[in-house]
Amino acid sequence: MTSLVKDNIPVNSSEGTSEQMIWPIVKEDLRHEFGEDTYKSWISKLECDGCTNSAITFSVPTRFIRDWVLTHFEKKIIRSWQKHNNHIKKISITISKTKKSSPVETGHNVQHRNKSIDMDDEKSQFFQSSLESRYVFESFVAGPSNEFAYAAARAVSEAKKVQPGSNPLFLYGGVGLGKTHLMHAIAWHIQENNSKRKVVYISAEKFMYQFIKALRTNEMMQFKEKYRSADVLMVDDIQFICGKDSTQEEFFHTLNTLIDNNRQVVISGDRSPSDLQNMEERIKSRLGWGLVADIHNTTYELRLGILQSKVERIGIEVPNQVLEFLAAKITSNVRELEGALNKVIAHTNLTKQEVTLANTQDILRDLLRSNEKNITVEEVQKKVAERHNLKVSDMYSSKRSRNIARPRQIAMYLSKTLTSHSLADIGKKFGGKDHTTVMHAVKKIETLLKENNEVAEDVRLLIKVLQC
Ligand code: ADP
Ligand code: MG
Repeated sequence: MTSLVKDNIPVNSSEGTSEQMIWPIVKEDLRHEFGEDTYKSWISKLECDGCTNSAITFSVPTRFIRDWVLTHFEKKIIRSWQKHNNHIKKISITISKTKKSSPVETGHNVQHRNKSIDMDDEKSQFFQSSLESRYVFESFVAGPSNEFAYAAARAVSEAKKVQPGSNPLFLYGGVGLGKTHLMHAIAWHIQENNSKRKVVYISAEKFMYQFIKALRTNEMMQFKEKYRSADVLMVDDIQFICGKDSTQEEFFHTLNTLIDNNRQVVISGDRSPSDLQNMEERIKSRLGWGLVADIHNTTYELRLGILQSKVERIGIEVPNQVLEFLAAKITSNVRELEGALNKVIAHTNLTKQEVTLANTQDILRDLLRSNEKNITVEEVQKKVAERHNLKVSDMYSSKRSRNIARPRQIAMYLSKTLTSHSLADIGKKFGGKDHTTVMHAVKKIETLLKENNEVAEDVRLLIKVLQC
């Protein structure tokens, strides 16, 4: 077990020296294991003070960081340390109020963000450790698949008063499509324009963890106070509290208290409120009361727009041909798309090559293969037919009855959004239809996605099946 050493217990500095030399190595290990974001938010905040007996002692600027690190990273830190010194059995963390944590260093906007946020230390540290500085409205590219969610997010962040029709705002969509980006953008915007409003952003997972911890340590009052005193509460990835009854109960009361007191609540999830499984009916219904905005899979044009905006912001030359190629090939989600671009840039940078189509194809060979392997027009046709109990040949036919024509339109829509084939190509693969027929189908389904929940759900599930 970890001992939570109270502030200012002296450490044995003579033993500390060699441990302080190990720390950078262990840190690198952890960076590798947890990834850059986690590393910057948490691990980089730890300052190694030395070692007492078998415990490594660290200091951090806030209690919040200390608790988070102990809960999430303690075992990993010890394990990694033991590779260098197997006498180490535990870690202790003290809170040193005087030390300032370094700002989150991701993204190019950091300077601007740090300057413009004028908050007390604790609050600003909360912000910097939990919000990504590049997730702002300015870097979000809107297109048909996300413009409703984008507009809703903007409206909520700009509203002087909470609009009952937008409370809660529920954003949902598949992984990597920008939900977290929009939530952080709302938080940044509100904070910068009205820093008196208390904005609390938390993932549902963390909410659950803090709730359980508060129960255990008899700190329920503080827990309730923290969330119920928010002017704006944002809970990301709500699906993670599905099935967790007591957390749900607490969440429900928090939600009600805030909404009843005219505080803004913003929630994100991977599916619509009514489709959340193992979630109490009353919560689902309350979540659906406000504004529900979904984010669909990206279109080719949006993917291209996102890539163009990204290279512009980084200030690096990438031929359009390469961006077009990436937008056509990496169709799964924006996270993967960004990952592919980053990989190409990093690789060419390292090898001092120019970015060209040829080396892009080369660098991304494996990734492209797996993207291609996953989704072909034929596979789309097969899965859509299966799901609607039709024959695959119905997909090529000209039968016009609704129960065949609608799934066929869905299949055309999915072929357009999930593969890189042109409208004409897709038409050919659907029994020699004209490209205007495919275009009509795509438009029709895009409209239905907004208006008809059944179609939206059908498309969502098909995408899931096709992408795994
Ligand atoms: P989610 O929370 O829906 O899983 P994220 O918000 O984490 O997705 O988005 C994944 C990545 O894609 C982030 O780096 C985000 O900045 C980027 N991204 C997603 N959608 C857009 C968009 N429309 N414009 C710019 N970047 C986007
Ligand atoms: Mg997210």
